[in-house]
Amino acid sequence: MSEFERGLVWFRRDLRIQDQAALSHGLQLARQVFCVFVFDTAILEPLADDDRRIPFIQDCLTSLQKQLAQVGGKLIVLHGDAQELIPQLAHQLKIQAVFINRDYEPQALERDQKVALKLHSQGCALFAYKDQVIFETDEILTQQKTPYTVFTPYKNTWLKILRAEDLAACDVDDWSALANPPSTQPTEIPSLETLGFSAAAERRIALPPGAEGASQLLDDFLPRLPRYHEKRDYPARKGPSYLSVHLRFGTISIRALARLAHAEMLRGGQGAAVWLSELIWRDFYFMILFHHPYVAEQAFHSEYDSIEWRSGVEADEYFAAWCEGRTGYPLVDAGMRQLNQTGYMHNRLRMLTASFLTKDLGINWRWGERYFAKQLNDYDLAANSGGWQWSASTGCDAQPYFRIFNPVTQSAKFDPQGDFIRRYVPELKDLHNQAIHAPWLADAETLAQANVQLGKTYAHPLIFHDEARKEALARYAKHAQRKKHN
Ligand code: FAD
Repeated sequence: MSEFERGLVWFRRDLRIQDQAALSHGLQLARQVFCVFVFDTAILEPLADDDRRIPFIQDCLTSLQKQLAQVGGKLIVLHGDAQELIPQLAHQLKIQAVFINRDYEPQALERDQKVALKLHSQGCALFAYKDQVIFETDEILTQQKTPYTVFTPYKNTWLKILRAEDLAACDVDDWSALANPPSTQPTEIPSLETLGFSAAAERRIALPPGAEGASQLLDDFLPRLPRYHEKRDYPARKGPSYLSVHLRFGTISIRALARLAHAEMLRGGQGAAVWLSELIWRDFYFMILFHHPYVAEQAFHSEYDSIEWRSGVEADEYFAAWCEGRTGYPLVDAGMRQLNQTGYMHNRLRMLTASFLTKDLGINWRWGERYFAKQLNDYDLAANSGGWQWSASTGCDAQPYFRIFNPVTQSAKFDPQGDFIRRYVPELKDLHNQAIHAPWLADAETLAQANVQLGKTYAHPLIFHDEARKEALARYAKHAQRKKHN
């Protein structure tokens, strides 16, 4: 029995029609269901005009429009301030209930609260569902009924309380309530020019978009899943799933992925167990952000906000060199260039480049976090601030500050043949495997044979790791000392 005459499903970071909680509930609860997506100026305005996520979203919407057409629906596509446009649209279409999937970012929570108030004032309800994660907010608690701040016990409880229904798809049996919007409502996807992103046309994400794209990537990954745990740390190999951008925009269901990984894990799959663990990290960071929204701006452990990071001209110069992939440390530079060129960076390199920036260069993790936010296709506030604070040792369950990655050892271990370096730092391609991880240690003849001129064709190292490591230890220890006296 439908409870509402007219409902509206507001798509945000859930751009699919299969196993989509808000859509599935909307279709059960309303007799006529309209669908909308808003290019929200509050989100778009701060972005650079060549942001490559915008063409990707457009492509995902084209795919969503096709999926909806196949089941008798049509997406209304608006451009403007969502806080104004959603209540306006609800009013125009005489909507009684708006259906959304919950978003846990502080700004999104605030937006949704404001929209809910406006809708209520015009007699319309807002229903929010869990869709982005398997367990949210307070579903996983310690014995003291408080949220976890350490991953391993969180994960153990996550696995312990998991039931089949937590992974069950939100299927739709009957699409007949999907309604076509009146012709006065726009259904065309605005051009990049209209959205203010014409420069983005040249910077397309090299991954297939939409739900079909996500399922292609998943099909490609499944044969690799059994060996994920062995291959995932080597950036030159095709190890991980590359599904992060799809999880970001909801073109694939987290329930579908976790169901698959969990079933494989129960069959003894080691790769699946490790992959599932990564999906649980994702839930963990959403939960942390929800309960501790300040982590977007500040250290999880506030004492770490007093670390004296490098500042002034030298910090600006170091930071620019890091951003541009010219630190003189080949694997760090390869990682940053991968990010700049493709919008993706391998997880091992995210850890390495973040550690290098904060520990070796002594630069505030917030600078790096903001740079990743601009560049990453899969940028997600929860995972990004979590990853950065883990690397900078300021986070809830971070690596201890005295654990500092050695960029040369990491390079020799995780890119032993230098294949990844050669792909992104071609000026070093002719250096042999022993020299490629630390060119400044190579003798003049080796460098000359490979046409490498340090300071000309490739950078001198910005700092020397052994010295930088000592400085980092002192910087953090001073802080630890201060913490003890407080
Ligand atoms: P896979 O290895 O196939 O993992 C599957 C999925 O699990 C990923 O798509 C992602 O959704 C999730 N996942 C994997 N590792 C983590 C993790 N450590 N934390 C949370 N979720 C994880 N991930 C983002 O999605 N967005 C970010 O903005 C982001 N920023 C990061 C910043 C730093 C400094 C670090 C160290 C990590 C960051 N990560 C981020 C986590 C991780 O690097 C990426 O999720 C992963 O590299 C994406 O590639 P994949 O889809 O092939 O991953």
